[in-house]
Amino acid sequence: MPKVKINSVVKLYTLCLLNNGPKHGYEIIKELENKMNRSISASHVYPFLKSLEDNKFIACKSVEQRDKKRYYLTKNGENFVEVVFSKLDGVIDTVIEKRISTCSHCPCKIYNGGHSEIIGNEDKVFCCSHCAEAFKEKLLLIH
Ligand SMILES: [Zn+2]
Repeated sequence: MPKVKINSVVKLYTLCLLNNGPKHGYEIIKELENKMNRSISASHVYPFLKSLEDNKFIACKSVEQRDKKRYYLTKNGENFVEVVFSKLDGVIDTVIEKRISTCSHCPCKIYNGGHSEIIGNEDKVFCCSHCAEAFKEKLLLIH
């Protein structure tokens, strides 16, 4: 399928921007600079735009006569963006999953905070102190 590799944040962001509507090349660079808080070289953006154009994912047109041409996503380009973004969903899920732990006592997922206690040399994480208590009680029953 796609012959264009999205292997940098700049490329990914460029796709996001194009997905929001037609853009001039310099608008893309400006917005990238704003969002990423660093200077973006045109030599990073234009070759990418060129490869998107070569693959017919984007096309250019001038809206008004004296207007510079704007890049916009073609139908193919929209499909391509959808594929890229859907793959990204998996990446985001993985990143979030790494930050989520499960309570040692109940099936609760903990994203932020929670209650941790060292029980028998092990650092255990619980959703709340009640679960920690219940866990310890259970341990006592077993032993
Ligand atoms: Zn719990």
